[in-house]
Amino acid sequence: MAIKSAIKQTPIIGLLFAIVWFMGCQRSSNNLGVSKNMEKDKTDATEKVVLTDEEWKRRLTPEQYHILRQKGTERAFTNEMKNLGIGSFVCAGCENELFVSDTKYDSGCGWPSFYDAVDDDNITQELDYSFSMKRIEVLCSRCDGHLGHIFNDGPQPTGLRYCINGGAIKFRKDDENKK
Ligand SMILES: [Zn+2]
Repeated sequence: MAIKSAIKQTPIIGLLFAIVWFMGCQRSSNNLGVSKNMEKDKTDATEKVVLTDEEWKRRLTPEQYHILRQKGTERAFTNEMKNLGIGSFVCAGCENELFVSDTKYDSGCGWPSFYDAVDDDNITQELDYSFSMKRIEVLCSRCDGHLGHIFNDGPQPTGLRYCINGGAIKFRKDDENKK
């Protein structure tokens, strides 16, 4: 009985092997394509800043460290960075330029809000399922520091709201940039 059923199953097993082998080939060729593209993108993007945990602790204030390196969130309405004038907002960890004052607006949410980034390449988006919510986390592309989250309830022309921790960014007034 056992032998008989084994023989019966042989063609099916063979077919399964063929399918698995075929899918494996497909997958590996896809992977090659993706990694090639990623390597190409990396060379175009700004150079990464990679520091050890100790180095980050030395470079940042405890609050900046908590937000940027431990994905912390500052209390609402504590650092909205209002009325700073015209200038740009850079990453507090690596000085990567992230936003400009032209795209900053008062969303009433209690954190600095922007409807657009300076350059999409300067910001990385990742799905975040923490606290039983599905949100999109935004990180600095250069140092992978946590900045905040992005929501789609912002004003036009983008309809986006970059909800950013004030402690994760630093403001640079335009006059200071020109000096
Ligand atoms: Zn950064």
